[in-house]
Amino acid sequence: MSDFVVVVAGGGLVGSLSAVYFARRGYTVHVFEKRRDIRSEKHASGRSINLALSVRGLAGLAGAGVDQSIVETLIPMKGRMVHDTRGNLSSQPYGIFGECINSVDRKLVNEHLLTAAEKFPNLKLHFEHGIERCNFDAGEIVVSDANGTRRTVRADLIVGADGAFSRVRADLYRTVRGRFSQAFIDHGYVELTMPPTHSGEYAMDPTHLHIWPRQSFMMIALPNLDRSFTVTLFMPWAKFDAIKNERDLLEFFDKTFPDAVPLLGRTFLVQEYFKNTKGALATVKCSPYNYRDRVVIIGDAAHAMVPFYGQGMNCGFEDALVLDELFTKYFGPPAFDKPPAPGAKLDQPIERPTREKLQALLDEYSAKRNPDAEAICDLALNNYIEMRASVTHWSYLIRKNFEAVMHRIFPRLVIPLYTMVSFSRIPYSETLRRWKAQTWWYHTIIKTCVYGSVAAVGLRFALREPAVRRAITSSLA
Ligand code: FAD
Repeated sequence: MSDFVVVVAGGGLVGSLSAVYFARRGYTVHVFEKRRDIRSEKHASGRSINLALSVRGLAGLAGAGVDQSIVETLIPMKGRMVHDTRGNLSSQPYGIFGECINSVDRKLVNEHLLTAAEKFPNLKLHFEHGIERCNFDAGEIVVSDANGTRRTVRADLIVGADGAFSRVRADLYRTVRGRFSQAFIDHGYVELTMPPTHSGEYAMDPTHLHIWPRQSFMMIALPNLDRSFTVTLFMPWAKFDAIKNERDLLEFFDKTFPDAVPLLGRTFLVQEYFKNTKGALATVKCSPYNYRDRVVIIGDAAHAMVPFYGQGMNCGFEDALVLDELFTKYFGPPAFDKPPAPGAKLDQPIERPTREKLQALLDEYSAKRNPDAEAICDLALNNYIEMRASVTHWSYLIRKNFEAVMHRIFPRLVIPLYTMVSFSRIPYSETLRRWKAQTWWYHTIIKTCVYGSVAAVGLRFALREPAVRRAITSSLA
């Protein structure tokens, strides 16, 4: 194994996947995670219970050879099921060719990744060890354990995957003259559970992501393996503040989500709503993602986004893949496909990355990944409006159907935005650019059709006038 030491800060979704990628290269990898081992906990504390996993996330997992056990737990969702205020349902497929996004349990994915990481003899997981400080130039980090005991650890490369409020990022922007912004939106969320029916079945169709769009806010539900749904209510903080007691809550739900109330159960709804934490939502943008050859930030640490495109984890998994693709470009393919047997001998010694090449690699990663990450941050914000309001408008549905027809006829030329983001690996910045161009063409075609129809109708009426007909005949004579 190589004496090149990679320290991964954070053993969440992206940190644990990234650790597997580095372990496959034969480097010595240490993962420091400030929480306890999630595998020893009954429930995961923190954010969302289930997540939508799509093509980019799956590619990230497959690239590290850790997709198989996760794929077995996926629940495919072929479209949105829109619930109106009268309880009427309408299905809107996600893909033209039956493509699905997948509901997956956050805790299960994290557990699978940690277990996959642990199989590498050159990788060590350190739980209840928080990163306190990084000294990038010295190649050192200070970690503290659950008793508060501090120690200094040597690191040739630090990978900051420590989430939206990253410690590594804070130290990075004390060291480089970079750009950093964090913007909270004025909406929060709360998660609720819709239990299975008395007969143990799903209370709603599990092949859809359910949405209750209510213009300025919305509720969504994703299925779980135990036949429950995790329901998430997103709305302005002012609306949360207005719900002070059980009566306010039930009045609000009866009026706004009448079909969901019997499925959630009134008593259970009240218990969960007041017990569960209300979460805030923010976008983090920053650049660059690296400092020389010493540190790189990935996942939410580099680009936290609002969850409305279901891309935060997908983008983070793709970060790990893109970074690994660059390692292959600069240093060749990984040393192993899967964890080596104990004492296994390598055909070739593992090359220690030179500092110059590693800096060039990380500079290239930052330059390539930043426009993509910022594009998906913007698309995610925009998708909130689509989900909570546009999905109910006829103009949105006309465009969706028009693009579906065009995509069938010209599958490479016209690709709906959702398909590009969720079912392809077209770089996010390119999807944004293509979507803007498609929007321009769509509006131009609509305008041409409208003006053309008005002109045709006008001409038809004009031709009924004898004076007009005479003028045309004489001009042609
Ligand atoms: P995190 O998951 O935050 O992990 C960071 C880890 O670092 C944590 O384990 C933390 O304990 C650890 N850590 C923090 N500080 C330190 C420290 N100082 N030292 C050591 N360890 C530390 N994404 C999707 O793709 N699809 C979805 O459907 C989706 N739905 C979402 C719904 C909601 C409501 C929310 C809030 C987010 C959703 N996301 C979704 C986004 C997704 O949750 C994140 O993008 C993803 O968790 C990012 O993973 P990460 O590993 O970068 O960060």
